[in-house]
Amino acid sequence: MTARDAGLPDPHPAAGLPARVMIWEVGARDGLQNEPVVLGVEVKAEFLDRLAGAGLRVLEATGFAHPRWVPQLADAAELLGRLTPRDGVRYPVLVPNERGLDRALAVGVTEIAVFASATESFARRNLNRDLDAQFTMFSPVLRRAKASGLRVRGYVSMCFGDPWEGAVPLEQVLGVGGRLLEQGCDQLCLGDTIGVATPGHVVALLDGFTRAGVGVDALAVHFHDTYGQALSNTFAALCAGVSCVDASAGGLGGCPYAESATGNLATEDLVWMLDGLGIEHGVDLDALVRTSVWMADQLGRPSPSRVVRALSDREPHR
Ligand code: MG
Repeated sequence: MTARDAGLPDPHPAAGLPARVMIWEVGARDGLQNEPVVLGVEVKAEFLDRLAGAGLRVLEATGFAHPRWVPQLADAAELLGRLTPRDGVRYPVLVPNERGLDRALAVGVTEIAVFASATESFARRNLNRDLDAQFTMFSPVLRRAKASGLRVRGYVSMCFGDPWEGAVPLEQVLGVGGRLLEQGCDQLCLGDTIGVATPGHVVALLDGFTRAGVGVDALAVHFHDTYGQALSNTFAALCAGVSCVDASAGGLGGCPYAESATGNLATEDLVWMLDGLGIEHGVDLDALVRTSVWMADQLGRPSPSRVVRALSDREPHR
C-alpha cells in the first residue's frame, strides 16, 4: 500500500499559510549538475518527463554554463530539444552570462535564471569576479532577456552563511537582491548554499526584504539539508507568506564549490510536509517517489530523501 492509498500523512492545516505552493523543481539542473555521474541525454529527458508526469509544473531543466566547467550540463540544447511540451509546464534554464543567453535564445527558451552571490568570496570563487562586477556581467544578460520577453529569476547564493566568510550581514543580502530586482529580475530565490540557515534567520531575512519594499510574491527560497534544517526553514518561510519553494527530486545534488554543502531539500520531503499542512501543490507523491527510485538506480546510489526511503521500502513498518 502506498502512502497516498493509506491517506498519509493525515492533513492538519495551520492558520496563516499559503493555500497553494509552487514547487520549483531543481533536480535536473542543480541536482544533476552536482552529481559526479554524468548521465546520458535520453536519461535526463526521461527524468524531466517523469517529473512533469508526476505533476511538477516548474522544472529547471538545465543550464548553459561552459561545458568545461559543468560537463554534466553540456547537452543543454539537445536536452531541451527532446522535451515534450506540456500545457502549464515551464522549463527555466540557468544562464551564467551573455554567451549562455545566446545559446538559450537560439533554442527558444522563454525563462531563465541567473546565479548571483551575496558574498565577495563566493563571487570570486564561483563567478571569478568581485561582488560588484557580477552586476556588470548580469546587466546585458538581463537587459537582453527582458527585451526578448523572457521571465527571469535571480538566484542569490550564500544568503545565510559563507564557508570562507562565516556570517553574512543581512544588509548585504538585501543589497544584492535589490540590485538584481533593479536590473530586471522578476523573482529572487534566496539560497542557503551551505545549509546553515535556521528558522529565525529565515524570518529575519524575509522581514528585511518586506521592510525594503520587496513583497513575498517576488521571493522564493532554496534550502539545503546539510544540518537537517531544510524543512524547518521552509516552514518558517511559508509562515512568512512565501509560496514558491525550491526542491530537488530525491534530494539530488549539493554544491561542488562549497565544501560543506550537501543535498538540496528533497521534493518528496517537501511534498509530505505540504500534504500534512493541507497545502495544495499538484504533485503525485507516489509517482515522484517511483521517479526518484529510478533515478537512484541510474546514479548507482540510494536517494538520501527520508520520504523516498520510507515509501520505497515495501515491508510494512511496525
Ligand atoms: Mg541547491
